[in-house]
Amino acid sequence: MSEDLLGMLVVSIFVAVVCGLIASGIASSKNRSGGGFFLLGVLGPIAIIAAVLAAKGEPPAPAGMKAATCPRCNALQNVDPSQEQYECWQCKLAVPNVAA
Ligand SMILES: [Zn+2]
Repeated sequence: MSEDLLGMLVVSIFVAVVCGLIASGIASSKNRSGGGFFLLGVLGPIAIIAAVLAAKGEPPAPAGMKAATCPRCNALQNVDPSQEQYECWQCKLAVPNVAA
């Protein structure tokens, strides 16, 4: 009797972890929080559906750069934070580099 309960518990944990891994894998491939979706996945397979349906996130800026959005054309770009201003790659507008 208690062995059956233990078996069910082990299976439940296994399923929860697998769901978490699948959800976090899908989320990471979309630049979404893998860890957050892993925790959600542990709660159930709904997280996999949520991860599949989640909109793609913006790619993170590379190390030493920060993501900035052009105030005129809304183009997303990676900016060197040490420079005083940057030029938008799309509309060539010079944008002051304000610390975000
Ligand atoms: Zn622009």
